[in-house]
Amino acid sequence: MGEMTVVQPSRHNSQFSQSGRPTSPRHRRWWRPRLKVRLHGGDGEIGGNCVELRSGKDIVILDIGRPLTAPRNAVVPLPPIRGLETGRNPHLHGVVISHGHQDHWGLIPQVHRNVPRFIGKPTAQILRVAEFWGTGIDLHETGHLEHLVPLSLGPFTVTPYLIDHSAFDAYALLVECRGERVFYTGDFRAHGRKSRLVERLISDPPADIDYLICEGTHVSASVDTGAADEDDARSANEIVSCASEDEVEDQLTELLTDADGLVVVLCSPQNIDRIVSVYRACLRSDRDMAVDLYGSQVLAAAGQETIPIPSAQWPRVLTYVTGVQRRRVRRASAFDMTRTARAHRIFPEQLMTRERPLVLAGSFSSEISALLAMPEVKISAVVWSMWEGYLSEPSGQRLASLLESHGVPLVHAHTSGHAGLADLSRLITAMQPTRLIPIHTEHPDLLHQLGTS
Ligand SMILES: [Zn+2]
Repeated sequence: MGEMTVVQPSRHNSQFSQSGRPTSPRHRRWWRPRLKVRLHGGDGEIGGNCVELRSGKDIVILDIGRPLTAPRNAVVPLPPIRGLETGRNPHLHGVVISHGHQDHWGLIPQVHRNVPRFIGKPTAQILRVAEFWGTGIDLHETGHLEHLVPLSLGPFTVTPYLIDHSAFDAYALLVECRGERVFYTGDFRAHGRKSRLVERLISDPPADIDYLICEGTHVSASVDTGAADEDDARSANEIVSCASEDEVEDQLTELLTDADGLVVVLCSPQNIDRIVSVYRACLRSDRDMAVDLYGSQVLAAAGQETIPIPSAQWPRVLTYVTGVQRRRVRRASAFDMTRTARAHRIFPEQLMTRERPLVLAGSFSSEISALLAMPEVKISAVVWSMWEGYLSEPSGQRLASLLESHGVPLVHAHTSGHAGLADLSRLITAMQPTRLIPIHTEHPDLLHQLGTS
């Protein structure tokens, strides 16, 4: 957990007359309780975001993440905020979750059910289907965030701004309370499929921001460009792959056009932008795409007409159920899942017999050895389309050496879920906050420098 920080906006002398009285309506509020911002997580660390906003007794919480450094089975205590655990604080008006990454919601199972919680509807649906696969949760949310639709929580007004990030349906949050304004970026980037949302925010930012709580994943002495790590990265010093999601699509298109056999793209199905990039590359290279069962469910749960899902409307998208998934379904007797997938399912013996060659995209790491063992299947390449750091973990090492022993190339095609320095700087400059509060960064001091330079 990050060290607790309490800050208040500085009062520039120019905002006050000689007598010390406020000179503009914006600053005529000194008799009101001051808004306090506390970072309970994400302060000097990447992940585990938790921001407490307090005005008098009234509290709202932005994100309640689990630190990425916490071991899998470790119990992480809740932040010391009255009522979180007991549900008995009428002044605790709710927890607002910016997006579906666990380092932003991971402690919610410990929060009392009486505490209201809010999140985007597609995200809530995605996390619900992901629960079965161990990567999500049913949040039992109180309400949903919608782009630019204000939400009243006690004296707080929270306005979500849909933003570009590797998690689908991610929001930045404008919070207003008794005349003070906080803007929390959540996690964002400006080089993905929703970059225009960030450009719009930069060209027309909310005015009079007292506090800008800004992510700074990529702020590092050694990285001076955009993409460097995964959305749930442990370090900001990783290999740069592609500068943008468009570049990932172009790289995949080239690879798929040149390959003649099966290509497997390993990526997180919850990174829907990436699945869309693979799909577009398939269209451009005259291939069909099959996603794993979990991936199919995630795509359907997003509930968007523009997202390809295995269905009659998207005949070039299919479902492939991996061995691990088949066993999991059987153990849980969750046969409705495979029944639902049946109409657009593809089986191992069909992998090489289709009119158009196939791409498998999603959670296929566990399936690689089975695919390599099928004599009729020829794998042209496996694409690592995730954070590079996972490859140095034991499972990644095993995969790399397995592919090497079979002479199958392991290709990298990835771009980060987080903004590069230039985009961070543009946002901070556009917003001109009274006070900048770095979050989700190992180098808050450097983000401060970026804000003042
Ligand atoms: Zn994230």
